[in-house]
Amino acid sequence: MTLTRVAIAEVFGISRAKIERLAAAEVLGPPRRQGKADVYDAVAVAIAVTGHEAPCLKCWVDVTNFSDGKSGGRRERYLRLYASRDRRACSPEEQAGPRAGICAACCRAAVHPITSDCFACGGGDRLAAPQRRFRR
Ligand SMILES: [Zn+2]
Ligand SMILES: [Zn+2]
Repeated sequence: MTLTRVAIAEVFGISRAKIERLAAAEVLGPPRRQGKADVYDAVAVAIAVTGHEAPCLKCWVDVTNFSDGKSGGRRERYLRLYASRDRRACSPEEQAGPRAGICAACCRAAVHPITSDCFACGGGDRLAAPQRRFRR
């Protein structure tokens, strides 16, 4: 899986400006040219941004405005929350986030946009068309 800078900003909910800074600092790893855009290895990006190769995108959103009173940035807060939270606290769909793909095996929108693994049935490499869901 690869992601453009636009996709990275959308998946992780961070500003384009921040993505440009990370790219300029080569934090995202070396880009590859694909059409008109640079693309980055999705797992390398996830590790650089969240510290986790298959981040729970609900936990990631939850730490945006959440302070646990300890030091560190969003990445540190995410890793603490993820480590402490009961695995059942976040549904497969929530873990895979709003840009999840639909699993061809179980038909749930739980295919992680980073790893292509389905959080619901564990099926890998079964990405159907990516879908976009909007929360009301
Ligand atoms: Zn979670
Ligand atoms: Zn599945």
